[in-house]
Amino acid sequence: MMTLKTTDQLKRSSIYSLTQNDLSQVLMEAGFEKYRSQQIFQFLYQKRLNQFSDMKNLPESLRTYLAEHFVISSLGNLDHQISQDKNTHKYLFGLSDGLRIESVVIKDGSRNTLCLSSQVGCSLNCRFCATGQMEIKRNLKPGEILDQFLYLKDKHGSIHNIVFMGMGEPLLNYNNVINSIRILNSKDGLDVGIKRITVSTAGIAKGIRRLADESMNIQLAVSLNAPDQELRAEIMPFAQKITLQEVIGACHFYQEKTGRRFTFEYVLIKGVNMRKGDAKKIVKLSKELHFNLNLIPYNPVSGCDYQSPTPYEVDQFVKNFQYSRLEVVQRKRKGRDISAACGQLLASQPD
Ligand code: SAH
Repeated sequence: MMTLKTTDQLKRSSIYSLTQNDLSQVLMEAGFEKYRSQQIFQFLYQKRLNQFSDMKNLPESLRTYLAEHFVISSLGNLDHQISQDKNTHKYLFGLSDGLRIESVVIKDGSRNTLCLSSQVGCSLNCRFCATGQMEIKRNLKPGEILDQFLYLKDKHGSIHNIVFMGMGEPLLNYNNVINSIRILNSKDGLDVGIKRITVSTAGIAKGIRRLADESMNIQLAVSLNAPDQELRAEIMPFAQKITLQEVIGACHFYQEKTGRRFTFEYVLIKGVNMRKGDAKKIVKLSKELHFNLNLIPYNPVSGCDYQSPTPYEVDQFVKNFQYSRLEVVQRKRKGRDISAACGQLLASQPD
């Protein structure tokens, strides 16, 4: 059930949106000791208190200050669907302004991967993606990204990997996504290892460069989806403006700056981007850049005319890489029956 918030509560912002540095700053400006931010983080994320009044070690004046200025947010869960094989769980959440997002938990044995949304809708309208068919409503705040994690951690126990592959383009909500990662990664906060967090971008070249400069060691995945500019611009129209050449330039910069390998994701669309020549171009790219190739068979999206390849067609495409040194991973199809697979998140918005 979604709890109704009073206007007063809506005016106050979620304390989950503040990094530990932000919180120290806020506290100092309000005349409290800086080190209190560490205690508050521990109360919020380790003890998981959801009332400031329960933070007994804090002076009363600070507890009152916090309660007057912040809420400890929580998401309203509106729906929960489980795939037939029980491995994929899709959650629909209502935000405080009534908009909706979806998040997915994918189970693989005892490992849980959490797929987080970063925006309500998406501005990029990739032709094969359901979220791309929605208009962009707004960016999620760090607290709303954290809320997804906290809710799903409570439901599923430990979360092993976090991937920003839900609704939206994380690098177009750069600051909020990075701040949410700082909180996830904070030792006094949730202490999620940075190497277990992946940001997936459709190819926002400037964002990739910024991420490289951040020196945070977040895992990077880039949705290549087509090996040349012409085809890429056709299936991902924003690529007319941010060209493949610019994306590749940014990937070079990322690699030089971080020394890290990244992942190219590649949606396999029958008859569109699965020619021998496409594979050859990818192999050629692998001679200049160090990446793993993650192949994702297209998941059907209503309103899109594309088709999924058969398993045989996928195998034939994969064979093109057998003599290359490329590491090719096929993403398992999970959660299609509940529209929770890559590219299928829609979270129908209320009228
Ligand atoms: N905006 C980001 C993250 C969200 S999409 C990005 O584009 O990377 C996460 C992944 O799902 C991307 O690699 C995207 O190319 C892929 N995807 C989108 N629609 C899909 C579909 N219908 N079937 C399979 N994969 C899809």
